[in-house]
Amino acid sequence: MLGSSSSSGGLRGDRGEENIPAAITDVGCERDINEDRYAVIDSPAGRAWIVCDGMGGTMGGELAAQLAIDAVRRGLESRSFESTVEALQSAVEEANRVIVLRRQNPAFSSMGTTVVGALIQGDEVALAHAGDSRAYLVRDGAIQQLTVDHTYVQDLVDRGAINEEDALSHPQAHVLTKCLGAAPRLDLDTQTFWIWPAANGEPEDKLILCSDGLYSLVEDYEMAEIFTTHSPQEACVKLVEMAKERGGYDNITLAVLPLGGQMREESPEHPYRPAKVQQREATVSPLATFGASLSLGKRLALMFLLALVGSIGTVLTTLIDMR
Ligand code: CA
Repeated sequence: MLGSSSSSGGLRGDRGEENIPAAITDVGCERDINEDRYAVIDSPAGRAWIVCDGMGGTMGGELAAQLAIDAVRRGLESRSFESTVEALQSAVEEANRVIVLRRQNPAFSSMGTTVVGALIQGDEVALAHAGDSRAYLVRDGAIQQLTVDHTYVQDLVDRGAINEEDALSHPQAHVLTKCLGAAPRLDLDTQTFWIWPAANGEPEDKLILCSDGLYSLVEDYEMAEIFTTHSPQEACVKLVEMAKERGGYDNITLAVLPLGGQMREESPEHPYRPAKVQQREATVSPLATFGASLSLGKRLALMFLLALVGSIGTVLTTLIDMR
């Protein structure tokens, strides 16, 4: 299943396929059913992209992931919110309550789902996640993981008991410490960012959401290269192919969102300016400013004039010495 969207909905710019967000989900090579879900939700609170990775016995995983997507959609569409992050948080918490209730049915008593979601409203980007589905930021060939997995092995990494490199191959790598459905109270991780216009020549960012079926089989540097050299839609297809060539033992889902600018933690209303830039501006001399404002021809003429004055000075000094 491949989805893409051509309307901007908070994503800026228009340069053909490069700027069209895309998402894909695939059952992989070994599973009979796909328990991953993704959705694009247009709402008064903004456009949301959600990836869920369900778990919990026959049909339970599928049901949990679908319940989560449906509840987030209802939550975002039903009321107005103070802020983008509050809207996303409230909708995901409602999804948690829905799944907790449905777990009272013994057939679904062990079901649950991860969630990673981005809600984009204008220049504001809210992120929320629970479980081991991840958000990444890709800029200029580099990739940065924005979310911290809620897993038993991540806790071991945080405590220094194991290395990050050993976490994915650990026998309990996929034991979650947090997910939707596990408990009535959900301690959700949220973050807020702002999209800044990229200055001339600066690279524009892409936001990636994905399930563990992708990053368990494709390294971060490989993802960075593919997201940088391919359009979102091509990258979706290629990365699923790579994960499947390497076994594809899990469902694979990812969404690629070109942001049309650079995502930063500072709001444009309170711009952050590095101290060294301010310092450099303060020490620029009036002459340097004057010189910089002249054309090349005028600058050459000025240099010639200064050289001439210097030569005359040298000649005069020599004459004075001779006297
Ligand atoms: Ca999975």
